[in-house]
Amino acid sequence: MTTSVIGYPRIGALRELKFAQEAFFKGQKSAEELLALAKDLRKTHWTTQKDHNIDFISSNDFSFYDGTLDTAVLFNILPERYAKLELSDLEKYFAAARGYQGAKGNVKALAMKKWFNTNYHYIVPEFENSTKISLVGTKPFDEYKEAKALGIETKPVLVGPFSLLKLIRFTGKKGIKDVVGDIIRVYTEVLAKYNELGVAWAQFDEPYLVHDLTGADIALFNDLYSAILNKKGNVKVLLQTYFGDVRDIYETLIKTNFDGIGLDFVEGIKTRELVEKFGFPKTKKLFAGVLCGKNIWRNNYQKSLETLNFLKEKDIDVVISTSCSLLHVPYTLANETKLDEKYKKHFSFAIEKLGELQDLNNIFNAKSQDSHEALVKNIALFKEDRQAYNADVDKRLQSVKDSDFTRLPAFSEREKIQKAEFNLPLFPTTTIGSFPQTAAVRANRKAYRVGEITKEQYEAFNKQKITECIKLQENLGLDVLVHGEFERNDMVEYFGQSLEGYLFTEKAWVQSYGTRCVKPPVIWGDVYRSKPITVDWSVYAQSQTQKPLKGMLTGPVTILNWSFPREDISLKQSALQLALALRDEVLDLEKNGIKIIQIDEAALREKLPLRKSDWYSEYLDWAIPAFRLVHSGVKAQTQIHTHMCYSEFTDIIPAIDDMDADVISFEASRSDLLILDSLKANHFKTEVGPGVYDIHSPRVPSVEEIKVTLKKILEKVDANKLWVNPDCGLKTRQDAEVEPSLKNLVEAAKELRHEYH
Ligand code: GLN
Ligand code: ZN
Repeated sequence: MTTSVIGYPRIGALRELKFAQEAFFKGQKSAEELLALAKDLRKTHWTTQKDHNIDFISSNDFSFYDGTLDTAVLFNILPERYAKLELSDLEKYFAAARGYQGAKGNVKALAMKKWFNTNYHYIVPEFENSTKISLVGTKPFDEYKEAKALGIETKPVLVGPFSLLKLIRFTGKKGIKDVVGDIIRVYTEVLAKYNELGVAWAQFDEPYLVHDLTGADIALFNDLYSAILNKKGNVKVLLQTYFGDVRDIYETLIKTNFDGIGLDFVEGIKTRELVEKFGFPKTKKLFAGVLCGKNIWRNNYQKSLETLNFLKEKDIDVVISTSCSLLHVPYTLANETKLDEKYKKHFSFAIEKLGELQDLNNIFNAKSQDSHEALVKNIALFKEDRQAYNADVDKRLQSVKDSDFTRLPAFSEREKIQKAEFNLPLFPTTTIGSFPQTAAVRANRKAYRVGEITKEQYEAFNKQKITECIKLQENLGLDVLVHGEFERNDMVEYFGQSLEGYLFTEKAWVQSYGTRCVKPPVIWGDVYRSKPITVDWSVYAQSQTQKPLKGMLTGPVTILNWSFPREDISLKQSALQLALALRDEVLDLEKNGIKIIQIDEAALREKLPLRKSDWYSEYLDWAIPAFRLVHSGVKAQTQIHTHMCYSEFTDIIPAIDDMDADVISFEASRSDLLILDSLKANHFKTEVGPGVYDIHSPRVPSVEEIKVTLKKILEKVDANKLWVNPDCGLKTRQDAEVEPSLKNLVEAAKELRHEYH
């Protein structure tokens, strides 16, 4: 057997790429410096894999922003509004990824969506009438050559033609069927170029295949690959799937002329059954994804070996692989200096996973005494009692009644009561919670964390910031205020730190989008709340203003989805534990005079099964009740908000309404408000604040632009149900952008009020 890695993280073990890019954006680093750093990182990544004896190492898994955007740009699929900017290619690329506002123009970024069921976001390529598909780039070839020059043979990776077509947004008259020929042509050209370069294996990523597929999808897949593979020459082609099983197309895949097929044995609940039932051809290699690329727990060798043995008995030519790209896990445990060994020995990040692949390979081939010891050690590790159980948590969960999942009175009743209670103007304005996390804000938190300042000093600084933030919001004329979240590093880590059962890392960053990284906490044991978390900050903020102050919490599903979850209990059980802890916090806020409480569920959609057929039974049937359990105990007057971002909500609108919040805000500006039709079609009852501008871009929206957006929204949303807000928290922005943006937002709402009265 041999080993393969689908993709490797690219931000650098200490986020070097992020910092270099940010410096480049600010003009503090040249393009040459940025390119040189990227080259260094790639070298480190390849040599690290080589040192761990990985046989199939990827190239072109590096990206300055996102691999889907890279693939689109490689094929000239770049909207004219970016292509025509008088900027360098790299700057045009960044303009498409994050928007551009400067001397050369003013354009918004392309839409960004969650990458399948992960917290990574891809850039949605746009196809316009004028788009002409053509192989215009050289990135995969350059990176292959770069590795080759280091003496490392790699498999260049591209998003495959089927997934690319499925992920593209066609904004003009053309659709998929109009471009199949062109797509076949450019992928064929890529393979020709690979042949010229002497590439041994090429990897095409086709994660889209793990969805429910129609007959037309399968026909499209066949059309694409029968033509492309016809011209593959000497290059061997690996069709790589991940994030689930390929039950709708497995039989087709094994008959198609691929040299290798990558299957996911971790998330693919039916993968093994498929191989059992339909077999696997001897002429191909099966890249068996047995090592989880998403979670940070050690691999259970016995389990993996069981799968590998099953394949071997069938005489299948197996390559041991990760289940998906390692992009979704942090770099290395080596940088975790504070975590006790008793915890660390249960964890495995990207580099440690390379070691596990090597172990599995050695054990499988019974290579050495060392490999035997590795197995013995691993078995012992999984036998150990981690002491994760808490009897009180268990007891409380057992005693939850059905009625605890329903808030009373019903929505329509509450809506009336709340309109009277708050007496807000038409189109009330608010923000999503956070205000800019300036260097000073972060420095204050850090100084406290490392013990340079006292608790009193730390709190005094934050209170000062809150006071200023409240003043600013009052001056701007916002209707519902927030405290600004200056005490929070991250919307999930902050809560994790305040709850029992969690563990934290120092450097375990994972890329979320572009230069944005997250450091998910680890759920180690049963979760509960031992003391109030946010109450003091909210109460202080409310004391500074007569206007309603919105308390700010992160919801149970998002906390769960943005943590590394346990694998020894179900996700449902973890979600309910979190819900009970947050329920205590909600009731404490209410008791202390906070009348509006927002419970963010930014990541609700994230773990939604990719197959529609599994949506309710596997997920929504517990995720939505978990949210309701958090807020069902409040009074009718208390207004519950929620917020969601960065995903496709259109198809889960009924489930979102069923969360039974009073108001919901969500990201909409980047996806051109497509969601509004769905709200209307589903008679959405919850009041809504579709984001009126994109906070992920530094540009300042004009009053006119916001009014146009609001008018578009009003074609679909009842004026009495409409809230006006940005599309997400402002933490990543600068004060200098936030103030004018919010000023324009409030002005737009005001002007519209006049028109509607
Ligand atoms: N309340 C959070 C904030 O404003 C929400 C963040 C999010 O949705 N990602 O930062
Ligand atoms: Zn958001």
